[in-house]
Amino acid sequence: MAQRPDTVEFIDNLRQQLQELFPTRLDKAGRVNLKELNPAELEQFFAVLGESRYRVQQFLNWIYIKRVLTFAQMTDLSAKLRGRLELLACVPSLALADPRQSRQDTSKYLFALPDGNMVESVKMRYLEHLGPGRVAVCISSQVGCAMQCQFCASGQAGLVRNLQAWEIVDQALQIQRLLDSCGERVANVVFMGIGEPMRNLDNVLRAVELLNCGDGFGVGMRHIAISTCGVVPGIDRLAQLKYPLKLAISLHAPTDSLRSKLMPVNRRWNLAELMASCHRYQEAVGRRITFEYVMLEGVNDSLEDAERLVKLLKGLRSLVNLIPWNAVEHPAFKRSSAARVRRFQERVEELGVRCTLRREKGSDIDAACGQLRLHKMAEYKDKGGESPEEAVELFE
Ligand code: SF4
Repeated sequence: MAQRPDTVEFIDNLRQQLQELFPTRLDKAGRVNLKELNPAELEQFFAVLGESRYRVQQFLNWIYIKRVLTFAQMTDLSAKLRGRLELLACVPSLALADPRQSRQDTSKYLFALPDGNMVESVKMRYLEHLGPGRVAVCISSQVGCAMQCQFCASGQAGLVRNLQAWEIVDQALQIQRLLDSCGERVANVVFMGIGEPMRNLDNVLRAVELLNCGDGFGVGMRHIAISTCGVVPGIDRLAQLKYPLKLAISLHAPTDSLRSKLMPVNRRWNLAELMASCHRYQEAVGRRITFEYVMLEGVNDSLEDAERLVKLLKGLRSLVNLIPWNAVEHPAFKRSSAARVRRFQERVEELGVRCTLRREKGSDIDAACGQLRLHKMAEYKDKGGESPEEAVELFE
């Protein structure tokens, strides 16, 4: 016997129940964004539709393992359920706006968000320790950034808005879709793209949960790193959660006077407060902390700076990662010479702290934080674009 179609009243009733259950996970049309829900919430969602828990696994499998884009492609769900999902839920995806291939094992992707804003993500293949076919992706947590670090293109442009959790996860997911044809797998995720993750921590933590989900994307917590410019309450919150995530601190200066000039965040939480929170974090989580240090000629790259840096890190299990500076359009800084970088690295190591030099990656593709987005947005402005929708079209 043919099934009777759902009545308008029946669908309206379901919609109302779902909107009451997930008021913060709705799209503009009032549909539940299923890519924002964790497994427990998905179970609640399907229960409202009268479906069993098994649907959660099926859904996660379609989105994160088979990586389909629409409900219509979820062919082991009944036609009736797919019809209800179309009316009551959505599974949005980021649109690839501008992929750039670097010559240096690094690819940069510009994604268009549904509102026409842009985010950047970077895929890094050069991390040999991950093993063959395994790559790391560096993802953004905000559109723009409010932190105003002097050497950073994103800091120059200011904050536009926080990314939602699904917009963070989808950067990794869409890169994985692009890698499927060449058999590569996203094995590590690094929150080191545009934005300060600790200023959007609820959504970042939700994204971590979704990336980590065993029936879904399945990236281990130990393979997820969060980088901060030094937002102490965020570090403390991570310490309380005790997730075995990797923490990286964008340090860049060994004294308060210099750091406050380079990074305004230091005027709010100085080095003593930052280091105290690093100790609390390490005590709680037990993992080594990475300190990122961008090398600026004549600014922070002397042997005395190296010695001050080691003193600062005393008592912490740490790794210093030196970063060759990518020339952003900022005349105030020069890239440290290779000889100065080598001397700095040797001094830090002599004094007993492990110190690595980040391999060159993607300076030829605007790989410095925020540069590609800024260039594309400027290009868009030059062409007289007005609405966000036009911005998306321009790059398709
Ligand atoms: S370096 Fe990071 S925290 Fe600082 S302005 Fe750039 S994106 Fe923001």
